[in-house]
Amino acid sequence: MPEYEAVIGLEVHVQLSTKSKLFCSCPNTFGQPPNTNTCEVCAGMPGALPRVNAEAVHYAALVGLATNCTINQSSVFARKNYFYPDLPSGYQISQFDLPICEHGWLEIDAGQGPKKIGITRIHMENDAGKNIHSQADNRSYCDLNRAGTPLVEIVSEPDMRSSAEVVAYLKSLYSIVTYLGVCDGNMEEGNFRCDANVSIRPRGQKELGTRTELKNVNSFRNVARAIDYEIARQSDILDDGGSIRQETRLYDADKNVTAGMRGKEEAHDYRYFPDPDQLPVVISDETLAAWKAELPELPAARLKRFLEMTKLPVEEGEVLVESRAMADFFEEAARKANPRKVANYILGPLLRELKASGKPVAECGLSPAALAELVNIVDGGLISAKIANDIFPDLMKEGAMPKAYVEAKGLAQVSDTGVIDQAVDKVIAANPAEVEAYKGGKTKLLSFFMGQVMRETKGKANPGMVSGLLKKKLGG
Ligand code: ADP
Ligand code: MG
Ligand code: ZN
Repeated sequence: MPEYEAVIGLEVHVQLSTKSKLFCSCPNTFGQPPNTNTCEVCAGMPGALPRVNAEAVHYAALVGLATNCTINQSSVFARKNYFYPDLPSGYQISQFDLPICEHGWLEIDAGQGPKKIGITRIHMENDAGKNIHSQADNRSYCDLNRAGTPLVEIVSEPDMRSSAEVVAYLKSLYSIVTYLGVCDGNMEEGNFRCDANVSIRPRGQKELGTRTELKNVNSFRNVARAIDYEIARQSDILDDGGSIRQETRLYDADKNVTAGMRGKEEAHDYRYFPDPDQLPVVISDETLAAWKAELPELPAARLKRFLEMTKLPVEEGEVLVESRAMADFFEEAARKANPRKVANYILGPLLRELKASGKPVAECGLSPAALAELVNIVDGGLISAKIANDIFPDLMKEGAMPKAYVEAKGLAQVSDTGVIDQAVDKVIAANPAEVEAYKGGKTKLLSFFMGQVMRETKGKANPGMVSGLLKKKLGG
């Protein structure tokens, strides 16, 4: 049996978070009662005149700029003709020959060093409505609220070779569109979803194998599982002397299998032609320059900078830049306190508490300024690191400033020599056997004594002073 190599190309649909839909002024919102957020354009009425939303063009261009694309300063909308009940006009308004962005790339690292994944094109298009097939009353319904929602489709080159590379690419793209603020990133609502085209070929062969297309997989984990399943399925077929049918397949996450849905349409089946209702989308030099200038620092660049600031390993740095809100939080706190220590509090207790409460960092009770203050009062010796960890959940819950909180609760660290001296003496007197063993060479017992003194002082003794005094008195 030959050894196979997988070849994967992705079509990612990103819903743009514009205020209104792509070709009408209906609000671009989710969750209304069926068919209440529609107009004659959404409903594809004859004679309705769709007019393109400038904000959507702006957002699409930002995605292209952030993914190293060429921006076509004149791009063209085309009709993609097909019949489906959730598309009453009988055509989707998309882009074909001249999309708004082309020839880009993204750099990913799936653990084997950096690799560039080509982006063939990014085009704008409107979403269709939704058919709802009710089992309860054995009817089908059509809800057009989603019709006309603005999407960009980001089409990659068939450059990925494993599900791990696919996940790295998707995560990178996801963080870019959410950093740009052009997509809310809600994957449950389908606002970032992908079709994965998968083929295999004997390793070393240049020609691409026949692909299947896995439709609308909407979590990183499921994409990886669906692709791995599909690679195994295709390998089995070829090993048995069979051939792959070019088709669209659906992934069933519960059963972890893919199943054939329909044969693949070819582009000519859609009879693309320029939409006569639409003028070319023209972007002037001035506008393009202004959009370039407004690009924020992107996750890859930010990660690099954060790694230099903190000297953290890459995987931990990646957590800090996962969302723009998180990166902003870290950055603001790190301006006022030791960055590495700030990062450690975020990666440890802060994320733990957020996870437990199910809240995003934007709703974190502790402000970046408060986190910086906490780091600084530990550094300055007002409280021990242990106390800081102990009070962390309360600080988050109460949204309190650490210094005031510590003072109000009487938790300030004791650096009073007299008090510590007394506690050390007490502990030494109470543990003669351990003292004997320590003097006999079991110096590891120091941590035992430390623990006892800390308990004696309710965790408030200055640990540096305690260990110094212990060593002196025990003769270490
Ligand atoms: P469509 O799905 O509309 O027919 P394309 O033919 O442009 O669109 O291809 C869509 C995606 O399929 C692209 O991401 C491309 O990289 C990928 N692709 C094309 N051929 C193959 C192949 N043989 N194996 C894997 N991916 C492929
Ligand atoms: Mg496709
Ligand atoms: Zn409308």
